Amino acid sequence: MKKKFYLNNFKTQWIKYDDYQINIDNNGNEYIVPNKDSNYTIYNPFEVSDKLLFDLIDLGDEALKKDSDKNIIKKKILLFARNYGLLGLISSSVYNRNIIGEEKVLFTENNIITKEKLMDTSEYMSLFTPFALEGDIYTRTFDDHLTVFKAEDSPKFYGKRPLILDVVFSKFYAEQLNWIIEFAKNISIHLNQLIIYKNISLTEPVTIMAGKFKAEKIGFTISMFDKPEINWEFDSLESTIETIYAFALTDESFILTRCEYCKKAFVAKSEREKYCSPSCRNCINVIKSRNKKKLIKDLNENETAEKNKLTKNDIGEVKGVKNMKIDEKKKEAIYEYKERKTTGGVYKITNIVNDKSLIRCEIDLKSMENRFNFSVSTGSCVNIKIQKDWKEFGAKAFKFEILEEIEMENDMSIIDFKKELKTLEEKYISEANKENLY
Ligand SMILES: [Zn+2]
Repeated sequence: MKKKFYLNNFKTQWIKYDDYQINIDNNGNEYIVPNKDSNYTIYNPFEVSDKLLFDLIDLGDEALKKDSDKNIIKKKILLFARNYGLLGLISSSVYNRNIIGEEKVLFTENNIITKEKLMDTSEYMSLFTPFALEGDIYTRTFDDHLTVFKAEDSPKFYGKRPLILDVVFSKFYAEQLNWIIEFAKNISIHLNQLIIYKNISLTEPVTIMAGKFKAEKIGFTISMFDKPEINWEFDSLESTIETIYAFALTDESFILTRCEYCKKAFVAKSEREKYCSPSCRNCINVIKSRNKKKLIKDLNENETAEKNKLTKNDIGEVKGVKNMKIDEKKKEAIYEYKERKTTGGVYKITNIVNDKSLIRCEIDLKSMENRFNFSVSTGSCVNIKIQKDWKEFGAKAFKFEILEEIEMENDMSIIDFKKELKTLEEKYISEANKENLY
């Protein structure tokens, strides 16, 4: 797959340890850090670009699940670190190149570490080395230039790469689980949005999650062996993964998408390929044929019932009778519609990309649902509260569901009915997670 990504000119060296553990700092933050007696390997992430990308999306998918299990997430992060190392967020979250030797760091926009703009370098460094003891890692000017000293034997680059990598590649460098989860979630959400946009016809180009990718510090050199070669230089695994992802998405020779059955990310050979595996395709076929059988059964039952009725009529005019019956049915349906009782209730509109939802009550649920469907088909928005996300994620990112229905009693006034609905709405809102509500 490496060749297909057009990544043959992409090289970078990254470090991974063979064992990591989860530690908690004095403020209760969970960190992942190499084990004291673990050993490192240097590798080129582009050589394993496909697996690296899918493992990260898999982690993001797990974290996005409504009922996601913290222990599974921890296991996945530990496994991810053993396979690929830590993300190098210390280097990708700020504009400074070397970091070491500078007084302050200037944060990039949309970084996942902090909302601050500036921070003292010493404070910033201790955010990523919370378990290092005095003397474990320190800097000193040596022969007129700065050097990082470490109480262990991880690689040093002596100025060929940013000095901060001497810290990143040490056993004292740690990253918070929440940061890694946030990064993985971002990539998963990005892919979800892309797939949504793929399925609707856009009238103008949209930038998906603008500002999320940080290409500030990707450089390159040209090397010469038997032929000139570009060597792209990445100072973090984070930007490496973002680059791999961007190339995977835009490569025309295959399609990065999600399985329509299990939702797992996979590479489709053509737009027609909808499922990640033969077993997912089988599952869908079973469901389809079950539905089809049920439909045929229902139709047959209807027809038998119809025939039984018809035996009383003149068989010679069966056709005419049938047509008349259909007209009558239509009339009946219209009549029923007019006479039908008012069914109100509480509905929920959910943004399936970020899981936020809007809970409201409505006197006429059916017409509310019609209104929602109409809005989806025209792109206009049903409620001002969700308008911003509706614009950003697209109408297809929203689903409508009825939480509870209640029928208006004959002797009830509209005002009382509204009150009852409002109480029901409040009940559902109070039960919902506040953070996930519009
Ligand atoms: Zn699947």
